[in-house]
Amino acid sequence: MSEFYDNGLRFTCTRCGYCCKEEPGYVFLSSNDLHRLPELFKISRDEFLEKYCRTVDMGSFKLVSLREKQNNDCIFLHDNGCLAYQARPLQCRSYPFWAHILESRESWEQEGLHCPGIGKGDLHSAEEIEEWLYVRRRERPIEL
Ligand code: SF4
Ligand code: SF4
Repeated sequence: MSEFYDNGLRFTCTRCGYCCKEEPGYVFLSSNDLHRLPELFKISRDEFLEKYCRTVDMGSFKLVSLREKQNNDCIFLHDNGCLAYQARPLQCRSYPFWAHILESRESWEQEGLHCPGIGKGDLHSAEEIEEWLYVRRRERPIEL
């Protein structure tokens, strides 16, 4: 099937931090995230859940998200960037190659109004983009 990103898409994060701060939002965690992140901080999974996570009621199920600070910044955002960068959640690592952003060229360009890295920098091939979509379908946020 032909996709608008068949020839790849340009994206390089400028580390502006916009997507990690200011506006309220959710960083949902997968089972793998809940393995990697506690390991990075050398604490147990339960301690990590207690200290850095909150549950989000989705109606018939609940998801686990990172906490935010009072100003809506992600709990891991600090002056020098993401404290969890090496083990940052899949949701963060796979951005901006998310299904709803890749629905059309318009949705991609619309996202670029918020993220200065979109449409610039490194060229990511269609295969790489498809791989991110596949990983996100396979590694779903954990449901409680
Ligand atoms: S908004 Fe885009 S450029 Fe800024 S930190 Fe997020 S991904 Fe990087
Ligand atoms: S975990 Fe790191 S990359 Fe993800 S939103 Fe928080 S500060 Fe940003």
